[in-house]
Amino acid sequence: MSCDSGCQEALDHLYEVLDGECDEQRGAAVRAHLAECDHCRQQYEMESEVRSLVASACCEQAPEELRRRIITRITQIRVTTGSGSASLTVEQYRAE
Ligand SMILES: [Zn+2]
Repeated sequence: MSCDSGCQEALDHLYEVLDGECDEQRGAAVRAHLAECDHCRQQYEMESEVRSLVASACCEQAPEELRRRIITRITQIRVTTGSGSASLTVEQYRAE
């Protein structure tokens, strides 16, 4: 996995894109990068998963600690399975 300046910029603005808070031009640039870069796309998808898990777990914004636990769990599952199935992630999270 290589990480060039495009990656850095995409990751810097990942949250803004997820929240729809960045301007259209920036959002388009980040999305274009995500389409080409597996590494950044995985980060983006992981963040999306975390957000949907948090949204289904509670209506309010999740405490930082819960958020970290979810990210850690997803990362562990990805490392374990190497495939990063979203449905597997959700199942294991809910099973707890
Ligand atoms: Zn990238």
